[in-house]
Amino acid sequence: MLLEEMSYVEVEAYLEGKDIILVPIGSVEQHSPYGLFGTDFLTAEAVARETGKRMYILVAPTLPYGMSQHHMAFKGTVSLSPLTFINVIKEITISLLNHGFKRIVFINGHGGNINPVKTAFDQLKCENYSGIFEIISWYQLEEVKSLVEDIFGENEGHHATPSEVSITKYLRQQAFKTKPTAKKQVEKVDVYWPLNRYEMKKVFSDGRMESAPWLATKEYGKIILEEAVRALEKEIKRILNYKLLEE
Ligand SMILES: [Zn+2]
Repeated sequence: MLLEEMSYVEVEAYLEGKDIILVPIGSVEQHSPYGLFGTDFLTAEAVARETGKRMYILVAPTLPYGMSQHHMAFKGTVSLSPLTFINVIKEITISLLNHGFKRIVFINGHGGNINPVKTAFDQLKCENYSGIFEIISWYQLEEVKSLVEDIFGENEGHHATPSEVSITKYLRQQAFKTKPTAKKQVEKVDVYWPLNRYEMKKVFSDGRMESAPWLATKEYGKIILEEAVRALEKEIKRILNYKLLEE
């Protein structure tokens, strides 16, 4: 059920029966020495694609780049500014609306994307676009949060978390051959937010945010991914149940 593998004839046929599409979004940002640059888009993509497969729902190609300006002091991070990102989300949504998609659901893997995506939705409504626009961050789903709490407790933290690193270990095991495994301190800090790139590196010097990514395993990754897919299926059912308000 991947848009990238379909023809327009197949999309026309899909739209005769369904008006929903999932769009995975993430970030290209550092995830400490322990995690991958692609962590946020790889996890969102895996959750969205598996859900799409199980529910016969179309999944658009992943938007890997997101709003990661606070990680820019770490080499390799690529970020869109908030205003650019808002416009990218807006124009993806308008393109899909143009073809008759009415339930456009962004499946998200990165906290920094949430505010700009919601602002894009507000702007679309301000411009009188009709339809259902949602962002679902897989790691914020209640079932996922409680599972992760059971497995990692306080060591989950907020960035380069053992849960997201576990999923990428499950998806891209090979890439971890060159990553460290040694334990470090998990320091709790009391800091204001948002931060610019320099403030970020000063407070979180190795790129982790109160997390213990060395606890990640591919086995946990498989379990967490499955829970995320199950929880997302419920959310999609909720979205499918809404009656559209036509003008
Ligand atoms: Zn992440």
